[in-house]
Amino acid sequence: MAVQTVASTTDSATANAVDLGPATALSCRECGHRVPLGPVFACEECFGPLEIAYDFSAHDTEELRKRIEAGPANIWRYAPLLPVPADVAAKPNLNPGWTKLVQADNLARELGVTGGLYVKDDSGNPTHSFKDRVVAQALEAARAFGFTTLSCSSTGNLAGAVGAAAARAGFRSCVFIPHDLEQGKVVMAAVYGGELVGIEGNYDDVNRFCSELIGDPAGEGWGFVNVNLRPYYAEGSKTLAYEICEQLGWRLPDQLVVPIASGSQLTKIDKGLQELIRLGLVEDRPYKIFGAQAEGCSPVSTAYKAGHDVVRPQKPDTIAKSLAIGNPADGPYVLDIARRTGGAVEDVTDEQIVDAIKLLARTEGIFAETAGGVTVGVTKKLLESGALDPSLTTVVLNTGDGLKTLDAVAGTGLTATIRPSLESFREAGLV
Ligand SMILES: *Cc1c(COP(=O)(O)O)cnc(C)c1O
Repeated sequence: MAVQTVASTTDSATANAVDLGPATALSCRECGHRVPLGPVFACEECFGPLEIAYDFSAHDTEELRKRIEAGPANIWRYAPLLPVPADVAAKPNLNPGWTKLVQADNLARELGVTGGLYVKDDSGNPTHSFKDRVVAQALEAARAFGFTTLSCSSTGNLAGAVGAAAARAGFRSCVFIPHDLEQGKVVMAAVYGGELVGIEGNYDDVNRFCSELIGDPAGEGWGFVNVNLRPYYAEGSKTLAYEICEQLGWRLPDQLVVPIASGSQLTKIDKGLQELIRLGLVEDRPYKIFGAQAEGCSPVSTAYKAGHDVVRPQKPDTIAKSLAIGNPADGPYVLDIARRTGGAVEDVTDEQIVDAIKLLARTEGIFAETAGGVTVGVTKKLLESGALDPSLTTVVLNTGDGLKTLDAVAGTGLTATIRPSLESFREAGLV
């Protein structure tokens, strides 16, 4: 009788349970206070950010490596290390990830890097930015928690990634962006048919508005991927670290150059590298993480250079709009990571961003959005200052596609206009 009671309890618990894989709890990054997994993002004790805690103890390193290598060519190959594994066969997801790690020998030659230079090119994701990784995680969490509307505050790329993921998954979407974004970003967000609302203000105003909406009945039942689903969303960035190491032959790079908007991506790349070390999937060697910002929105690099632990908010004014977060939530953690690993945080001007976009395109055939101009430009600057060691293996992130920020290179165009005759071609001086 007792056995039967236990069995039936287990059955009903399984039927209603949310499958959250190896994730065990939400843990406060500041004070370590733990709460059960759910759609919450701030610690009830100290208001610190909540992160996913895992139990990885059951993993055998070799088995895990084999399982990953036999997995699909997308982020779900790392399902045993993610908070909400997708039910890939049953539920539609855009299945992003496993983007190219391009060996950038031409760029390396131009910049004087001898230790191996790679571009992790996330423009190859379904909506052409790294944001598909984080949204894929948030979508699975939204499913697990029973939300039916997906929402977000966005600097542009996230809006498109949420719109596309919601369309494919059959969710409603309603996303919020600053009203003055690039045309390419607006169209890329609107085309998927969800609601797209422009807010008169900058990203920080949009974010504040969304926080208000969450507390209001109007936002009830909404999964804001980067607010109430943020702990799950953020874990999607770890897959960048996993892929880079696996693509290098299960090896840590020596140096990584990562863009900073809120700082979440950089923070979780570090978390992902730490997990690989802990799991024995890579050899434990030192690595350095360098953060990259645009000078027109450089609150983290300003604090880094001043030796401060506190990040003072700035009003953004830069062509790198996808990174234009003046009050970055994870700024202090980025400072910790840059200092702990022996990296740095640097910034470049809009002019240097444009030059770097052209440099990457000219040397490697990769057309990056402005955020990629920021990382390549910062890489160049850090090599010149000696902060980056040219004899070490270096990975630079390109997180988005240049087709979304065409205005940045608007001066680029025709070499010549000629009549359709050989004579006219010769006159143009190209032979
Ligand atoms: C969102 C975004 C990032 C990183 O954002 P974080 O908030 O720092 O995680 C980097 N590049 C592009 C193109 C983005 O859209």
